[in-house]
Amino acid sequence: MKIIVCVKQVPDTSGKVAVNPDGTLNRASMAAIINPDDKNAVEAALTLKEETGAEVVIVSMGPPPAEGMLREILAMGADRAVLVSGREFGGSDTFATSQIIAAAINTIGVDKEDIILCGRQAIDGDTAQVGPQIAEKLGLPQVSYVAEIKKEGDSLICKRMLEDGYMTIKVKTPCLLTCIKELNTPRYMSVPGIVDCYSKPLEIFDFNKLKDDPLIELDTIGLKGSPTNIFKSFTPPQKGAGMMLEGADKETCQKLAGILAGKHII
Ligand SMILES: Cc1cc2nc3c(=O)[nH]c(=O)nc-3n(C[C@H](O)[C@H](O)[C@H](O)COP(=O)(O)OP(=O)(O)OC[C@H]3O[C@@H](n4cnc5c(N)ncnc54)[C@H](O)[C@@H]3O)c2cc1C
Repeated sequence: MKIIVCVKQVPDTSGKVAVNPDGTLNRASMAAIINPDDKNAVEAALTLKEETGAEVVIVSMGPPPAEGMLREILAMGADRAVLVSGREFGGSDTFATSQIIAAAINTIGVDKEDIILCGRQAIDGDTAQVGPQIAEKLGLPQVSYVAEIKKEGDSLICKRMLEDGYMTIKVKTPCLLTCIKELNTPRYMSVPGIVDCYSKPLEIFDFNKLKDDPLIELDTIGLKGSPTNIFKSFTPPQKGAGMMLEGADKETCQKLAGILAGKHII
């Protein structure tokens, strides 16, 4: 049994977000981190590994420096990692990204008992499209927004979060799940894990490695294979400082009503 986890390296947007004059993110000036939801997917895979002895394989598409992030996840306990990287993949939108990752997963191989885990959403692209698109392209059943996973024979029982409650879904493997932060608390790297992580396999899948997969054609990947284009990117204007009125007395209420009436809100 194999658990393949798709992990994206993203800029750390919890601190100061640097934006280029053209409105794009200035990634070079921001620290690179593991996408937060993907850490929950990794933790779920490592927990299932402890229960079942499964092999945990991490897949990331990104530039060569993403290798550091993959070593970090190997130090958390994953068994092997694949970095999908190449000039031909640059400029990919979500359609092309999922096409390339699906081909990489085909190359790794998906067996009857296997599970593919993704984060729900990446904090930079923010579309939540890549996981479901990978499932479609691999022809696998999928459950999104997963907050709990239990293995039961050849199926998984998943608690799926909805806006106003939960849904319990039984899904047969092989399948793809997208994970949310409510699923677990991700572990840290262990000291023995850090020592071991450099002796674990980390393979690079470039265009040549994937080119024979039916999903990969030069017009289905990269900028040329991306049906969406960024039309305009801009930083919204800063909002005003706001005004605070303190007290619940008649005078304050009259003042508030006067301000709202002055702005034609009431
Ligand atoms: C025209 C266009 C050009 C673009 N050019 C570039 C570019 O040159 N460089 C660039 O970095 N981005 C580029 N992007 C953004 C790129 O499309 C997205 O970053 C990427 O497709 C992932 O989408 P997302 O961030 O919305 O991920 P989501 O769909 O929100 O991610 C959901 C989950 O999918 C998995 N996942 C997503 N991306 C990856 C990945 N790369 N590796 C492994 N797992 C992943 C993770 O598990 C993640 O939690 C471009 C977008 C467009 C529209």
